[in-house]
Amino acid sequence: MNHSKKWTREEVVALYNKPMMELLYEAASIHRKYHDPNKVQVSTLVSIKTGGCPEDCGYCPQAARYHTQVEAEGLMGIDKVKAQALRAKASGSSRICMGAAWRNVKDGPEFDQVLEMVRSLNKMDMEVCCTLGMITENQAQRLSEAGLYAYNHNIDSSEEYYEEIISTRGYKDRLQTIENVRKTNVTVCSGGIIGMGECIEDRADMLMTLASMSPQPESVPINALVPVEGTPKEEMQPISIWEMVRMIATARIVLPETQVRLSAGRTRMSREGQALCFFAGANSIFAGDKLLTTPNPDIHEDMKLFEELGLVPQQAFEKHPQPKTTEAKNAQYHALGEKPKWSRPEHKIQDNLDAQHQRKK
Ligand code: SF4
Repeated sequence: MNHSKKWTREEVVALYNKPMMELLYEAASIHRKYHDPNKVQVSTLVSIKTGGCPEDCGYCPQAARYHTQVEAEGLMGIDKVKAQALRAKASGSSRICMGAAWRNVKDGPEFDQVLEMVRSLNKMDMEVCCTLGMITENQAQRLSEAGLYAYNHNIDSSEEYYEEIISTRGYKDRLQTIENVRKTNVTVCSGGIIGMGECIEDRADMLMTLASMSPQPESVPINALVPVEGTPKEEMQPISIWEMVRMIATARIVLPETQVRLSAGRTRMSREGQALCFFAGANSIFAGDKLLTTPNPDIHEDMKLFEELGLVPQQAFEKHPQPKTTEAKNAQYHALGEKPKWSRPEHKIQDNLDAQHQRKK
């Protein structure tokens, strides 16, 4: 069913601000209408290329310009990725998400290696997701042929607030990549981060943008900012669990069939707080002790919590069929060596410049 809808900001803010018990009741009712409330999809995130990123996302320790503890590493070998995927599968993950700190994908040997990783992991009967930065339609098609199940590209926040956190690319570029993915059989994963200093209206606008997509994204991660020393957002105060619960519940109402993922920030949440998020409609988590470069709860802790709550991990391909892998030699889409002109906005963000300057001291 297509749930795409143009919500107004007032409607979404009104949902977010409802008395908590009413909000929870409405969200939980929608949740059980479209999903099994006892099933939670478990994904493992693997950083296949860490740090050294040319972008200036104000929350990210992987941006080369900030002085953080992250050491830049080259692209991981296929065997290492396969070994990590095997471990993840054995501990209950049905999806493996490979993240590379790139501005955008460039055709060439590194992208070919990523395509080979996708082929290998799809053959292991896992849902394979990639988050590699901006991609063209042709690159999305090549990933689709390799057997990619999902592509992650977060819109991060509202269009207005986006300009407060990133100056090296525009919001429209984000939407363009999502559109490029939509032209293939690959499902869309796109969400954002709360707790970066945005207001409730920004959170509402972000959900409105996601809810108006047709079809809506199959997966929406909701992250709580994990402030990292050396980034422009290092001094942000953590959000309260109630804000997370409200955000998840509102997302569940406006995105009824989407898998809403309780993502970064879980280490700060109590078990009871996480349980409330599951009740409010979260039905996906990231497992593994690291989320790219920030800490995450141990998988054994997660499984203990699942047991206590009677939750079970969702099996791979329960929601969408497994994509077919086309071998490279039979592929219909070939590298075009395109050099797309992704925008470079003119605006400056003082916090980001200050954090960069700090590094030079
Ligand atoms: S969020 Fe992604 S694009 Fe932005 S700096 Fe970090 S790795 Fe680069």
